[in-house]
Amino acid sequence: MKGGKLFVFSAPSGSGKTTIVQYLLQQEELNLSFSISATSRDPRGEEKHGEHYYFITLEEFKQHIKNGDFLEWEEVYRDNFYGTLKTEVNRIWSNGKNVIFDIDVVGGLRIKKKYPERTLAVFVKPPSVDELKRRLKKRKTESEERINMRIAKASVELATAPQFDFVIENNDLNTALAEAKQLVSEFIGNE
Ligand code: 5GP
Repeated sequence: MKGGKLFVFSAPSGSGKTTIVQYLLQQEELNLSFSISATSRDPRGEEKHGEHYYFITLEEFKQHIKNGDFLEWEEVYRDNFYGTLKTEVNRIWSNGKNVIFDIDVVGGLRIKKKYPERTLAVFVKPPSVDELKRRLKKRKTESEERINMRIAKASVELATAPQFDFVIENNDLNTALAEAKQLVSEFIGNE
């Protein structure tokens, strides 16, 4: 099947990548559609099934793994599984759109490896680990333990930045947004 382009935005959580992805989705000329991941974690705050994630049980998740339904999947945190269903990417491509992913670094690099020509993989770098800590605490949606887990993971993730096509440093949000839009536009034009 002829598909569109794939845009991977990966980063430690708290880096601002979700804000960047949401901004890009609003730019109609980029013709992007968000890849809704499946996850075994519980919804947080206002999150809705079929919009932010497909919230499924751990058992359902494991069954999808067995069936080979995932393009990539990862146990991002212990017992919290996340994955991209093949049907999700096909759904977006069959609507004639480009896919944008908000996924972790391992998943992002896996997608790049599977579709090297049509994927642009971007790493969003937080200003510092201290700033990351501050942002995660501000969210007030998670326990101290979960926050510490995310921070421990962030240091490992930061080391993978050189494997991405581009690194955006999110020191100033407006600059980061403009840079992200420019990268996506150029990649779309590059048929
Ligand atoms: P959160 O629990 O904050 O929504 O997400 C935790 C981490 O899992 C984030 O880094 C997020 O980007 C990542 N993630 C979300 N969906 C997927 C996915 O489908 N695959 C992979 N590998 N990671 C994902």
